[in-house]
Amino acid sequence: MRVLVLNCGSSSVKFAVFNTATGTATVSGMVEEIGNAAKFKAKYAETKTQKSIDAPNHQHALVEIQNFLKEIGEDQDISAIGHRVVHGCEEFANSVLITPAVLKAVEECSALAPLHNPPNLQGIAAARKNFPTLPQVAVFDTAFHQTIPKHAFLYALPYQLYTDQKVRKYGFHGSSHRFVARETAKILGKDSKELCLIIAHLGNGCSATAVKFGESADTTMGLTPLEGIAMGTRSGSIDPGILFYLNKTLNYDFDRLNKLLNKESGLLGLSGISSDMRTVLEIAGYAPPSSVQTEDCNADSELQERAKIAVEVFCYRLAKEISSLAAALPKIDALVFTGGIGENSKFVREKALSHLGIFGFTKEGEFQNGKPQVLVVPTNEELLIAQDTEKVVNNL
Ligand code: ADP
Repeated sequence: MRVLVLNCGSSSVKFAVFNTATGTATVSGMVEEIGNAAKFKAKYAETKTQKSIDAPNHQHALVEIQNFLKEIGEDQDISAIGHRVVHGCEEFANSVLITPAVLKAVEECSALAPLHNPPNLQGIAAARKNFPTLPQVAVFDTAFHQTIPKHAFLYALPYQLYTDQKVRKYGFHGSSHRFVARETAKILGKDSKELCLIIAHLGNGCSATAVKFGESADTTMGLTPLEGIAMGTRSGSIDPGILFYLNKTLNYDFDRLNKLLNKESGLLGLSGISSDMRTVLEIAGYAPPSSVQTEDCNADSELQERAKIAVEVFCYRLAKEISSLAAALPKIDALVFTGGIGENSKFVREKALSHLGIFGFTKEGEFQNGKPQVLVVPTNEELLIAQDTEKVVNNL
């Protein structure tokens, strides 16, 4: 089946047309800076296109995408559209056909994901208008984690905050963790129902999940994607007392604290240089410099020290979060790294593993009977969205 996969952010729409039989995207791209100086970028048959466009809103962006697909003859035989939707609350444990009732439920989840669900809904509305005959499916980032048991998803807060305000751990990156769990089972030649895995998805956002016999048993992100591992610009878990302290001493209000924890912390905050792991590793001297690397950075030892400590804090906190997930599992068959950092940085993997000696992991890629393995498995959330869309549509 040919499926158009859409991922609508507040000012961007990412798209790809997947052939689920081959598992490959024939064309992919994005419209960014919607409502501003919008740009259209696409990759098709080894050719890259980039142009400025007029896209005051998501619907215009979709018209551009539709026209481009027509131009290159890729609009033919698209049977369905799969949408990434960030938050499905406790309502959605699986991918679903989008109906008016589903839209209403997604809207009700928006309070928990005010930055993500509204643009997802805008994208769905635009797609329903522009592709009125195609079935559309919602695939939720939170759905995979709906199997997490209550003792793991509850915070030790007054219980009414769960019942009345829905304060609990939801977890994110679910499509990635599910995809990687399935691929890992294939690689190990086992049924996923036999395996216990810890999957570390390390991209700009980072989360790790304990996957127990094919189901999410716990994950590091929480009510919001701020909890857990330190990330590009997010702090990950901190002592909440820091917020009260900064409010008292620096008069930081909620908006300031929100910006601090979401946009100014993590690798960026610690290094003072960049949220991008590759750049931070290069400046730390932990990776060979790329073409964009400036010699000045290497020469500045203070910058280098800051970059080093940023990487070290990241890796140690990552190891601690991975360790914490062991509590959710009866055994560990493998620790699996994925995402831009997880797939590409052996240095980060090895540094994190250096703090995890107690688990007795084998060396990366090695197998020793009875010992937990370390694997690197590339993720592909868009393909999972396309596959789920096909499944939902075939079951109609
Ligand atoms: P997103 O979460 O936006 O999908 P990615 O999964 O592409 O992002 O991950 C982006 C992160 O991966 C960035 O921090 C980037 O520096 C890092 N990354 C990509 N390639 C490498 C590499 N070769 N070495 C270290 N980090 C890398």
